[in-house]
Amino acid sequence: MSAVSAYRLTPRVTKFLSEPHKLLVGGKWVNAVSGETFPVLDPATTDEIAQVPAGDAADIDAAVTAARAAFETGPWATMKPTDRSRIIWAIADLIEAHADELAELESLDNGKPKKAARDVDVVGSAEMFRYFAGWATKIEGNQIPFASADPGAFFGYTRREPIGVVGQIIPWNYPLMMAAWKLAPALAAGCTIVLKPAEQTPLSALYLGSLLQEAGLPDGVVNIVTGFGETAGAALSAHPDVDKIAFTGSTEVGKLIVNASAGNLKKVSLELGGKSPNIVLADADLDLAIPGAADGIFYNHGQDCTAGSRLFIQKKIFDKVISGVVDRAKEIRLGPGLDPETDMGPVVSEEQLTRVVGYLQNGVESGARPLIGGKRHGDRGYFVEPTVFVDANPSMKIVREEIFGPVVAAIPFDNLDDLANAANDTTYGLAAGIWTTDISKAHTLAAKLRAGTVWVNCYGVNDPAMPFGGFKQSGWGREMGHEVLELYTETKAVVVAL
Ligand code: NAP
Ligand code: MG
Repeated sequence: MSAVSAYRLTPRVTKFLSEPHKLLVGGKWVNAVSGETFPVLDPATTDEIAQVPAGDAADIDAAVTAARAAFETGPWATMKPTDRSRIIWAIADLIEAHADELAELESLDNGKPKKAARDVDVVGSAEMFRYFAGWATKIEGNQIPFASADPGAFFGYTRREPIGVVGQIIPWNYPLMMAAWKLAPALAAGCTIVLKPAEQTPLSALYLGSLLQEAGLPDGVVNIVTGFGETAGAALSAHPDVDKIAFTGSTEVGKLIVNASAGNLKKVSLELGGKSPNIVLADADLDLAIPGAADGIFYNHGQDCTAGSRLFIQKKIFDKVISGVVDRAKEIRLGPGLDPETDMGPVVSEEQLTRVVGYLQNGVESGARPLIGGKRHGDRGYFVEPTVFVDANPSMKIVREEIFGPVVAAIPFDNLDDLANAANDTTYGLAAGIWTTDISKAHTLAAKLRAGTVWVNCYGVNDPAMPFGGFKQSGWGREMGHEVLELYTETKAVVVAL
């Protein structure tokens, strides 16, 4: 029996799934120009739940044309910021009004527990639109006194103008929330958009598309093209009439996007992978640190760019922390996301299952020892056992490479002097965690870690007002907060002779 029929779905999701899915281009729902579609699978059962259009270069071209028209001449370009703000706020309200449906769809498509989808993905998406609704009326330039020219002879000021047509390419780990992180600031800035969801998880973006229309977003402001990275994604990042690409996904594809963007030197922002250190000092409050270490890697099945996948533990408390993390891993109930008893669902796809299991085997072959887990769970769906490796060393692939699964390598350390170097020994620099009761050690270490976010006595806490992004090969630019608006605006200097 398929998951679609095994769990009672809300009537709106049943209806949505039963209807043909289309691309949103210029305010109209259309088939791919080629007429091709591809299947969307439930990762808990591998059953097909939908067919969506396989958009390619022709569809991207139509979507970019629609976005360009909406940017240059549509009502969006001339709308009062308060009206833009109202529409963005209305999107948040509609996401909340459809919270159950969106959570259900996300759970079915991605595999994550419905409760997590509702409490984190859906709530986080609504909050992102709400935060940026406020920014639509607050994007300002400056009046700048001249420094070396006669200050009485010139009047200088800056304007912050929308960057134009933006291509947004998003991953499958938080499908709706990644769409919200990308769309909300771009809309606040007055841009128009072509969004390409991940092939594994296109459904919540399509559902969101109708909510955008219901909220009153003018035609062509957001266009949604489902399809493959190699065709639709590549066409979007190479398109000569796209002014900017915002991408979240693997570092490998991030580099392809940089190359593809060179043709018209479009602006690029990248939110890429990570291999984040989560560090437990001997003086930590272990009642906080142990669940923090476990949730830091097991939340969202480890499919999180900030996953605390390298767990550094001071030797004195190593055994205690590790046995605490293993105990928590034992309690995790694996199952379909739509089962209310489930703590951890399947990983997203067969490709990910193969990748993660490959790392589990490689870890053992290279001499690391799993204290729990270490293999696939069951033989149906893409489930992986939560895994804790010890006896790992910095040369191993499981310590160096992003696994993107529920797999942590625990590494003991003695000396605080070498700790920052060990933690920074990675090509990534997205996030880090520190668990300690010593405020001075916390701040000293936070300053030394080469990471875009450092969490102290917490992990994975994001907020629309806090900038988020990576050092080193974890990316370019910062999402969220006021900093992201720099990615979606151009600064124009205006000089007036008096
Ligand atoms: P990915 O290939 O980087 O996919 C991310 C997005 O980029 C998807 O929409 C994908 O489309 C698109 N894409 C793929 N090739 C492209 C190309 N040549 N040009 C333009 N766009 C392209 O990630 P993945 O293959 O799904 O996962 C592989 C690894 O990426 C994971 O194991 C993990 O390490 C990392 N990852 C990181 C994040 C993060 O949040 N930082 C999220 C997801 C994955 P299709 O899906 O249609 O191919
Ligand atoms: Mg892919």
